[in-house]
Amino acid sequence: MTEFEAYFSGEKIYLNGRKCVKVGETLTKLLSKPTGYYKEVLLFAQNYENRLHYPEDEAEAYDSESFFQEAIKFYAGVEDVIMRLAPYKYLEVVGNRLQDTLNEYAWAFHEYPKMSVLDDEDDDIDYHQHFYVRFGTEDMEDPDMLNEIYTLNDKLKKLAVEMRTYLEDVLRVEYAFTAFLERIHSRNRFLTNEEIADTLAEFEDEKKLRMYACDYLRTSGSIQLDYKRLRIKEKTELCEHYKFTSLGAFLYIELFKGLEMHYIPRKCSYCGRWFLIEAGIYSEYCTRPVKGREDGKTCRDLGHFKKYSEKIANDPIWLTYNRAYKQHYARLLKKKMTQAEFQKWADYAIKLRDMVERKKIGFDEYYKKIRE
Ligand SMILES: [Zn+2]
Repeated sequence: MTEFEAYFSGEKIYLNGRKCVKVGETLTKLLSKPTGYYKEVLLFAQNYENRLHYPEDEAEAYDSESFFQEAIKFYAGVEDVIMRLAPYKYLEVVGNRLQDTLNEYAWAFHEYPKMSVLDDEDDDIDYHQHFYVRFGTEDMEDPDMLNEIYTLNDKLKKLAVEMRTYLEDVLRVEYAFTAFLERIHSRNRFLTNEEIADTLAEFEDEKKLRMYACDYLRTSGSIQLDYKRLRIKEKTELCEHYKFTSLGAFLYIELFKGLEMHYIPRKCSYCGRWFLIEAGIYSEYCTRPVKGREDGKTCRDLGHFKKYSEKIANDPIWLTYNRAYKQHYARLLKKKMTQAEFQKWADYAIKLRDMVERKKIGFDEYYKKIRE
């Protein structure tokens, strides 16, 4: 269910060779979803993973129906999450897999609670809703039947591992990816290859402090790569064609491709929501219109203005510049300066401010000259 293919071509990814998304888009979407409560769901998944098999003794046989009903409901809930979130909401995934898997072995269950051995009445039922154990322990000595049951158990195990891995992958987005991306953005610019390498190494060094699989920045499942031709509409592209067995494998590749190509998710410093920085200009602000404003101004417009205002309010260079500007402007109003003289001074003041910002002159010299 969670395995899929993706064709990478530049900044584009074709999920299962069809749905086109940008590099970093899926990760950004998942970062926007609060997933904290999945930690509890993960505990249930681990528990079911330990218990999911064809009943092995009388006590398990007795509880079989109620256990499988609970498990079917639980996994349907997880599948529902999978189908609602990116990338699977764009892919045609099919749910209800536990019930389907058990039904591949319908002969091993009774639809109705009869304990009589090999009653043929149930043979008319194509698809079971209920799973009462059909065989006693002595029937299990038939080697063919036993083999079949082992195969069923393997399939159940695979399903349980896949569901648990999915939950860990989604939690990893919240716990590891968020923390790593915070570091990537700590300098408010694109990092060089060397800086990314150092950031990653530092992040990995702290591993010792982490307890859960989802706290580690790593892949899950397996990744297989070959190169393939992809035909989209009339265009033909050579793509890196990946087969992922899990979401975690995809997200890991997507993150590092994004870092390389400057398609990086970040939290907007104005509205606090995640957005995707797309190659070109680095910005700490998203381009969503700010809620409640009619002028259509975006976080990026207001964010830069806010930053500029804060700079003016806190930076001694700008503070000094503003005071000097006000003094000279007052002189102009009182006609102690002509318009031309004021303009000449204003140009000169900007030059001085530039020079001190680029450390060409010291602050004391700047302070003295701008007030003259
Ligand atoms: Zn924003």
